[in-house]
Amino acid sequence: MAPWFEQAERRLNMVPWTIPPNLNNEVLRTGATKLGISSAVIPRNVKGCWNLGSCGLGCPTNAKQSMLVTSIPAALNAGARLFYQTRAHKLDIQNGQVKGLLCVPIRLNGDKVSDQTMRVVAKHYVVAGGAINSPALLRRSDAPDPHGLLGARTFLHPVSFSAGIFDERIEGWQGAPQSLYSDHFVHDAPLQGPIGFKVEAAPLHPGMASILMGGHGQRLMTRFQQYPHTQMMLSLMRDGFHPESVGGKVRMHLDGSAVLDYPLTDYVLDGFRRSLLAMAEIQFAAGAKVVRPFHEQSDDYSTWAAAKAAIAAFDMKPLLTGAGSAHVMGGCGMASTEALGVVRPDGVHLASRQPVGARRLGLPDQHRRQPAVVDLWHDQPAGHPTGQAAEWQGRGAGLNSTLITAP
Ligand SMILES: Cc1cc2nc3c(=O)[nH]c(=O)nc-3n(C[C@H](O)[C@H](O)[C@H](O)COP(=O)(O)OP(=O)(O)OC[C@H]3O[C@@H](n4cnc5c(N)ncnc54)[C@H](O)[C@@H]3O)c2cc1C
Ligand code: SF4
Repeated sequence: MAPWFEQAERRLNMVPWTIPPNLNNEVLRTGATKLGISSAVIPRNVKGCWNLGSCGLGCPTNAKQSMLVTSIPAALNAGARLFYQTRAHKLDIQNGQVKGLLCVPIRLNGDKVSDQTMRVVAKHYVVAGGAINSPALLRRSDAPDPHGLLGARTFLHPVSFSAGIFDERIEGWQGAPQSLYSDHFVHDAPLQGPIGFKVEAAPLHPGMASILMGGHGQRLMTRFQQYPHTQMMLSLMRDGFHPESVGGKVRMHLDGSAVLDYPLTDYVLDGFRRSLLAMAEIQFAAGAKVVRPFHEQSDDYSTWAAAKAAIAAFDMKPLLTGAGSAHVMGGCGMASTEALGVVRPDGVHLASRQPVGARRLGLPDQHRRQPAVVDLWHDQPAGHPTGQAAEWQGRGAGLNSTLITAP
């Protein structure tokens, strides 16, 4: 994968962040250093970043090298046509060959506008709908799946969270949200042993913070009063490398939409407990007055000893244990033969020899010289015409895209 990563990193200007981290991140380094745990700087895909910190809500200065300012304009410059509010519904597969793509117009909320379909015909079709919706599209299309592997081994890097309250103002909403990390607990964990985890600082926008602080009503309000003094860490579990961590399976609702069935096994949840312990210890080492692990049975703990005893006694069960995910991977597993996976290492669908490529489910495709069609949904004013070809003019935030290209 190295050459592909290098190509993507070059294109998106992914370089180590040289500006001092915000305090939300610095706490991670301070606590880790005191405990003799390694930490490092995260490369960021930015150009001329203002260090404002609203990356997760859409970069107001276009410094973030998202698809909005990179691949999509490049595709349009190379002659792509863009269809927005248009869902790729089904590939028309005949005798193992894709003959066309049927699309439906949708509203901003994803509802279908009508039963009318649009047929897109291209020389090549690249499925890049993410690790859940790509297998769903292939399933709706009755793509060959001789070994039942489509949608299997879909991974989430399940995430645990821990809040620390400090005397000083942390103001975690300011500055680049994620700039430091520690892989100590990944490097420390042999693949056949307990699950390893990566530790980072959590982006702390009010919306996300309101969920991760836990509780509601008066309890949440009291916690929000400490918001400026709150630091938050997260740990990402390295799932998929152990027999008790085989990931989830993408299944279909009756209406043809996708659902991911991901069991949080005892093995994965044991990693949650160990990560809650690790994060609490780092936060106390950095000077936290109070630590609050994200778990329904959690309270506020003012010493490391109290937090340690409480976390050891938590019932590590789904729904009780606060869990999130931001890395959805797999769905169309990569392998050398169709008995083992869905796509070849070059992204071609093993059973039908058609390209299936995306950042998280296959390789970046090599066939983007003359992209034919870009489907995307983005924020459009209410009442904007739907499902029409549009020359994209650079407006609209929160852009999401699927690229279907011809060589
Ligand atoms: C909150 C959050 C924080 C993250 N932070 C980081 C980070 O710091 N570093 C990092 O490396 N990664 C991070 N990630 C992960 C990263 O964003 C994803 O792994 C990556 O975007 C996946 O890329 P993709 O192209 O496979 O899929 P996506 O980016 O999901 O793109 C798929 C696109 O296909 C479209 N689509 C789906 N189905 C259809 C259909 N039927 N028809 C037409 N279009 C369709 C979707 O609308 C979407 O635009 C984060 C993710 C989240 C959610
Ligand atoms: S911190 Fe994020 S949102 Fe702010 S300018 Fe930099 S990339 Fe854009």
